[in-house]
Amino acid sequence: MYCKCGKEGFYLRRHSGEILCKKCFIRSIEKTIHKTIKREKLFEPNDKIMIALSGGKDSLTLLYVLSKRKYGSEIFAVTIDEGVSGYREEGISIAKKMVEKLGIKHYIFTFKEFYGYSLEELYELAFSKKIGLLGCTFCGILRRRLLNEAALKLGATKVATGHNLDDEAQTVFINLIRGDVSRLIRLGIKPLKYREGFIPRVKPLRYIPEKEIAIYAYLMGFPLYERECPYVRASLRDEIRDILNQIENRHPGTKFAMIRTVDKLTQLLKDKICEIKYCIKCGSPSGKDICRTCQILSMLGICKN
Ligand code: SF4
Ligand code: ZN
Repeated sequence: MYCKCGKEGFYLRRHSGEILCKKCFIRSIEKTIHKTIKREKLFEPNDKIMIALSGGKDSLTLLYVLSKRKYGSEIFAVTIDEGVSGYREEGISIAKKMVEKLGIKHYIFTFKEFYGYSLEELYELAFSKKIGLLGCTFCGILRRRLLNEAALKLGATKVATGHNLDDEAQTVFINLIRGDVSRLIRLGIKPLKYREGFIPRVKPLRYIPEKEIAIYAYLMGFPLYERECPYVRASLRDEIRDILNQIENRHPGTKFAMIRTVDKLTQLLKDKICEIKYCIKCGSPSGKDICRTCQILSMLGICKN
C-alpha cells in the first residue's frame, strides 16, 4: 500500500479508493476545506468571521485551518460555557490554549449570564417540574441562540461551525424520519436566504467524515477531550449514527450521497419553502410562530418575553 507520492500509505479512503501517507492525508484535509470555502463562496473579503469553538476536535480543526489563510477581514473565536462542572472546564481550557497559540481573539459567553441559569440548573429546574428534557437537543437549541447573540454583539458577519459530514448526514436522516422537508432543505453549507437578526452560519467541514477529522486532529497533536458530558443521553441521533456507520461500512460513500441528494433537493425547492418568520415572543428568526428557545424557556417557566 503506497501513497501516490511514493511513501508508505497509512490510510485507505474507502469511498474514493485513495491511499494516503500521513503528510498527504493532512494536506488533503486542509485542501478539501480550502476548496470547499472557495467553491461555495463561504466568506467575503470584508467578513468578520466568528468561529464557534467548543474545544472539540472539529472546532479545533476548523480554527487551525482557517487561521492558516487570510479569510475575511478578521477572525475571532467564541466558546459557549453551558455550565457543566467537571466537564466544560476541560474544553474551555483546550480552546484557550489553542487561541493563545494561534494569536486569535477569544470570547466566552455563559448560559448563566444570558439565560440566568447554567445547564445544570436548567436540568434541576426541569427535574423539579417533572419535565423530561432531551440531552443535547435541548442544550443545542439554547447554545445556537446564544452563539447568534454573541455574533450580533461582537459584530460578526459570519459564524463558522465545525459540523462534519457525519453530523450532516445524521441530521438529514432525522429530518427525513420527522418529515421535516423545510428543515431538510435548509440544511445546506450556508443559509438559503439572509434573515435579519440571524448571522449566517457556514460549515466548511461539511464534506469531511468525522473519522478523518479525528485522525487529522490526532496527527496534528491537538489536545483532545477526555471526559464525557453527564447530560449526554441515548438519543435518536445516537441510534442513527450507529445505523449510518453500519451502512457506510458496507457501502462506502453513503453519507456523501445523502448530502449530495439534499443539496440537489435544496436547489430544486429553495424558492418554494423558504418562508421567513419571526418569533412572536422574542422577535428572533424562527421556522414557527414561537421559536424553539422560547418554547423551552416557557416550558421551564423562565421565559423573559
Ligand atoms: Fe450540551 Fe450535549 Fe454538549 Fe452536554 S454534550 S454540553 S448536553 S450538547
Ligand atoms: Zn422566541
